[in-house]
Amino acid sequence: MPEPEAGPGQVLLKVTAAGVCHSDIAVMETPPGALGFELPLTLGHEGAGTVAALGAGVTGLRVGEPVVVYGPWGCGLCAMCAQGKENYCTRAAALGIRPPGLGAPGAMAEYMLVDDPRHLVPLGDLDPVANVALTDAGLTPYHAIKRALPGLLPGSSAVVIGAGGLGHIAIQLLCALSPARVIALDVSPEKLELARAVGAHETVMSDEQAVIGVRKLTAGLGAQAVFDFVGAPPTVAIATAVAGLEADVAIVGLGGGAAQVGFGMLAYDAAVRAPYWGSRSELIEVLDLARAGEVGVHVETYGIDEAPKAYERLHAGRVNGRAVILP
Ligand code: NAD
Ligand code: ZN
Ligand code: ZN
Repeated sequence: MPEPEAGPGQVLLKVTAAGVCHSDIAVMETPPGALGFELPLTLGHEGAGTVAALGAGVTGLRVGEPVVVYGPWGCGLCAMCAQGKENYCTRAAALGIRPPGLGAPGAMAEYMLVDDPRHLVPLGDLDPVANVALTDAGLTPYHAIKRALPGLLPGSSAVVIGAGGLGHIAIQLLCALSPARVIALDVSPEKLELARAVGAHETVMSDEQAVIGVRKLTAGLGAQAVFDFVGAPPTVAIATAVAGLEADVAIVGLGGGAAQVGFGMLAYDAAVRAPYWGSRSELIEVLDLARAGEVGVHVETYGIDEAPKAYERLHAGRVNGRAVILP
């Protein structure tokens, strides 16, 4: 790709790191006509870089400054954007505003254009390679967990399904933010080992026995919060079956599963929701947690020419933690 130029109001970044998300595989598996944007597309919705050039009128940033990209770009003007929740912008779709790597050119390139300086968060002394994944694999679970925190009292349990890129950070966030006992589920023994290493108190194989296993660990009561980072039919079934009274169930994964919700199908007063990414202020909070040493991403790195290999490994379930591309 030719090196882009920063137009008025834009910021050009020299990319230092780009995270590899399972959502990219969903993009690759979608027929081109159904994507809602034109191909080719430069992937990479987790991006870090240094400011390479400022477009006309841009102030408040200096060339060379290290930053991460807040990916869910919105209009900046609607009620949601006014609260920093550009992930829930009410006008982005109508205006054709798309996140980098999910419609706009993303971070898997030497240079990347950012449409507005408000989409950038200064990285300070945080390492870009170690922390780039916090922009999505950290921010998305953080946003999902924050809403469930009032129910995560001492003695409560939280279930994390899928201890991959998002899940292994979710476990650390739960440990940092709540006194809940964290129970991690996955289909792979290596992922369960990683889950333990990052703080999960219990691990359970995600199979036909999983619901019984979680019920046993919670004295038959189920969990107060459940985070499904797979979202496939079998995991959504587990997620709702292990939800206890008044539980909060967040379906984060794009696996196409649907929850059965109706009287008698779910514990009394349990709620199921499907959150998307997070707000700009939440990203700042996640970076502050990293600065405090409360979260650390397990990273494997690849040169940009090796990016297809990273995706192959992710697709095969062999990436432990997050793969990061170094352009
Ligand atoms: P990943 O591949 O790194 O992790 C997925 C994990 O799930 C792996 O450890 C895998 O072994 C495990 N797994 C697979 N099948 C399982 C099963 N049946 N039971 C339990 N565990 C199972 O993926 P990721 O990058 O962490 O993304 C996770 C999901 O979240 C993807 O579907 C992605 O598209 C989605 N996502 C959603 C949002 C959002 O805003 N809602 C944001 C980012 C990613
Ligand atoms: Zn993602
Ligand atoms: Zn908006």
